[in-house]
Amino acid sequence: MITDTHAHIFWDGLREDVEGVLERSRAAGVSRIVVVGTDVKSSHAAFELCRGRAMLHPTAGMHPHEAQDFDAVAQAEIERLCRSAECVAVGETGMDHFKSFSPRADQLRGFAWHAELAREIEKPLIVHSRDAHQDTLDVLRAVPGVRGVMHCWTMGLEELPHYLDLGFHISFSGVVTYPKNEQIRASARAVPADRIVFETDCPFLAPQKHRGKWPNEPALVRETLEFVAELRNEDADALAVASSANARTLFRLGHP
Ligand SMILES: [Zn+2]
Ligand SMILES: [Zn+2]
Repeated sequence: MITDTHAHIFWDGLREDVEGVLERSRAAGVSRIVVVGTDVKSSHAAFELCRGRAMLHPTAGMHPHEAQDFDAVAQAEIERLCRSAECVAVGETGMDHFKSFSPRADQLRGFAWHAELAREIEKPLIVHSRDAHQDTLDVLRAVPGVRGVMHCWTMGLEELPHYLDLGFHISFSGVVTYPKNEQIRASARAVPADRIVFETDCPFLAPQKHRGKWPNEPALVRETLEFVAELRNEDADALAVASSANARTLFRLGHP
């Protein structure tokens, strides 16, 4: 039982073959998938996909790349979805100064809005942060009490304690397996056992052995988990159970 805490299976290449994707997930021991919305359209698509499928759980949010389009209409729709009973988290949201597809001011405004909503409705916040440690921290610290997950962790040991102190979980994707990412591996060794979770971020970021594979898919989260188990000198099955329990606590899921 592994949980993929961040998958975009509404993307082309995955959506057309959802039953196949889920079948391969189950065969790999992946029993739960959090389907993460990145704008109004994909958040709707996430909810649609999850309906009637017990192993899937949707979220709604506006990705920092789309922050400049986060107008009042989009806001109202994302909020409505986030408040619905089946929605397990607010996001993804956050800051991205690596690609900077939206102006910084729009990203800050959108991120702060999501963080405040998450705190108000007591759901976890899914945070995307790329080359934006200080801005990310500033926004989160301005909303004390908000909980959530730093998805696709790409920072190092210096930044890690700040997010742990805020009570956040840390999620590792296939990038932890890429040769150059020693700082991510150092983080993966250091995260406390009760805060670690795993994800694919599919269709992106297939782990090293499948690097370049398109689309990446939830079944491959097992490879990332096994890789990290070895880094941490832990048994992979035990880490699967522990990290899934963490995901269950984080997203308030029932037992599978
Ligand atoms: Zn992201
Ligand atoms: Zn994502």
